Amino acid sequence: MIVVMKVGTPQEEINRISAELSSWGLSPEKIVGKHKVVIGLVGETQELDPFRIEELSPWIEAVLRVEKPFKRASLEYRHNEYSEVVVSTPSGDVVFGQHHPLVVTAGPCSVENEEMIINTALKVKAAGAQFLRGGAYKPRTSPYSFQGHGESALELLAAAKKASGLGVITEVMDSPDIDKVAEVADVLQVGARNMQNFALLKRIGRQPKPVLLKRGMAATIDDWLMAAEYILAAGNPNVILCERGIRTFDSKYTRNTLDLACIPVLKKLTHLPVMIDPSHGTGWSEYVPAMVMAAIVAGADAIMVEVHPNPQKALSDGPQSLNFDQFDQLMQDIKPFVKLMGRERPEPALAR
Ligand code: PEP
Ligand code: MN
Repeated sequence: MIVVMKVGTPQEEINRISAELSSWGLSPEKIVGKHKVVIGLVGETQELDPFRIEELSPWIEAVLRVEKPFKRASLEYRHNEYSEVVVSTPSGDVVFGQHHPLVVTAGPCSVENEEMIINTALKVKAAGAQFLRGGAYKPRTSPYSFQGHGESALELLAAAKKASGLGVITEVMDSPDIDKVAEVADVLQVGARNMQNFALLKRIGRQPKPVLLKRGMAATIDDWLMAAEYILAAGNPNVILCERGIRTFDSKYTRNTLDLACIPVLKKLTHLPVMIDPSHGTGWSEYVPAMVMAAIVAGADAIMVEVHPNPQKALSDGPQSLNFDQFDQLMQDIKPFVKLMGRERPEPALAR
């Protein structure tokens, strides 16, 4: 349920109403939108009579029920205002959201060594990316495949961040690793295989760094939004959703089926920003550019692309990784689409 306050409601009145609702055993959450303040109520609201709440104050404009099972993640919960996830990076704040420039994340599947990660960071930054991606902890289907360099790779990510000024997005696979990953990561990634690791979602929801929640490969959109709800319910409002392809009957020509239709669907259901990862989504580098362009035109807020200095030699996901020239070309080729969608990034002000 949400309580929509009239424009200009005094703060004391919002506090008074919140205190009253708390005394009824509810947990009111103040949500400050661009135009209005909304008080969100999650919990035992089934039996609650909206008129009883309306009577609390003449400053209340409306009391509305949120019908979706994912309460906090629903667009209604924020009274139809899309949220902005602000991430601080060494080069300044980067905002993910509906009315903001496209955010580009690029980098290798896994962090292999210092030279490759620093080199990749500098190259993708020069091409126009805002974030460096790269796994230190890798969720691999086979226990015999390269598992990532773990903690030592986090140090390499820190070095690449320092050298490039890019923000860092990297995966956390296990709750005990959250703190050390959060020391270097600006956004913590929860991978597809962990999307329903509820213990991890709860723990990651209790820490302050923004979270990139990848869609499980067999997850429905409702499953995915309920997983996001776990993070939001634990207290972390900064969640970005990432579509990375789902399993369907056809895996002959593509590794997964990239569900681009999820973009307009999510834009109707949730206020959370949406990222598209066509590298895992298709599994083949030659299909990545077309899907990046399609994602932008379909309304994606961000994209994630795997880039490797020498994809043939990559320790993981080489076939789906672009090399530097291909990424550079892609960043040129997307420009008209980015412009068409009003997602251009203003040129940084020149230092005097
Ligand atoms: C990755 O980003 O490298 C990764 C393992 O992704 P996913 O969880 O989507 O498979
Ligand atoms: Mn990968």
